[in-house]
Amino acid sequence: MSDPIRTLVHQLSRLPGIGERTATRLVHHLLRQDRALMHALAHSLVDVAERVHECPRCCLLCATEGPCAVCADLRRDDTLLCVVASIQDQAAIEATGEMRGRYHVLHGTLSPLDGVGPEEIRVQQLLARLGSDDRAVTEVILATPPSVDGEATALYLSRQLAPLGLKVSRIASGVPVGGDLQLADRLTLSRALSLRRVL
Ligand SMILES: [Zn+2]
Repeated sequence: MSDPIRTLVHQLSRLPGIGERTATRLVHHLLRQDRALMHALAHSLVDVAERVHECPRCCLLCATEGPCAVCADLRRDDTLLCVVASIQDQAAIEATGEMRGRYHVLHGTLSPLDGVGPEEIRVQQLLARLGSDDRAVTEVILATPPSVDGEATALYLSRQLAPLGLKVSRIASGVPVGGDLQLADRLTLSRALSLRRVL
């Protein structure tokens, strides 16, 4: 029989930012608490694993059947599509209140050195939706981060989108180069959106 404590320490230490020492500390902390906390954590993990999936249209994560709340919202502007690298970036842009259109989440940026090519992020899904459900889109805003990989991704997407005859724009900097969209303050991010330039 395997040691349940060692197994849990091993599983936790696979998470980012958690080494074996931190994992051990967490497990011993849990063991000192009411066992109900561990059951609740285990239940939440199973619930997330079983119910959360990518929205078939925009690739945001959601726990509902079919499209997510953003895609299902009829008041949104169908002509505007904002492409972001991550769920966290989508949340940061949504929090500005400036973006009334739709989103597409790539779940990453192109990074040839790390072996991340177009197949590893949701590029095909983007092109597919623009050719089917989302024919009303007239402008695609590329809101990938202002990092080397984010710029390379925006450039790649602008070339892929060119044959579709859409207006393709890039968020303005103001967001620091090499920076993180989630760390930009709301005003900076909202200016970056409104001052976007056509590619
Ligand atoms: Zn969606």
